[in-house]
Amino acid sequence: MKARIALIAHDKKKDEMIALASQYVAFLRECTLCATGTTGGRLVNELGLVVERKHSGPFGGDLQIGAMLVEGQIDAVIFLRDPMTPQPHEPDINALVRACDVHNVACATNTATAHLVLSRLREQQAAK
Ligand code: PGA
Repeated sequence: MKARIALIAHDKKKDEMIALASQYVAFLRECTLCATGTTGGRLVNELGLVVERKHSGPFGGDLQIGAMLVEGQIDAVIFLRDPMTPQPHEPDINALVRACDVHNVACATNTATAHLVLSRLREQQAAK
């Protein structure tokens, strides 16, 4: 089965997300992707990826992705959070990360971890 990956980046992390995704673009084309609204828009427009776009994070997108995860529809979350900027939807962010822990779903909250997760998923996909 294709890896199902959710991608979310806070505003100051969106360029980092695009740079990260561009390094894995061939693999990501083989995956089933979803993303919060603005992050997803950039992935679609700048990298040509096919992405199921949810609402923007502050409007409930994190919660929508959390609900998918609880339903067993997500294998990994790449969530580039901005630790330096207060977010209006902090409770939603915490809920999504908590849902990852409750359901033992990989959750990369920085680029270093995201590289480990994506390269491992790519290896697994290649071995299939
Ligand atoms: P966005 O949502 O991709 O719509 O900006 C991410 C967030 O800020 O939580």
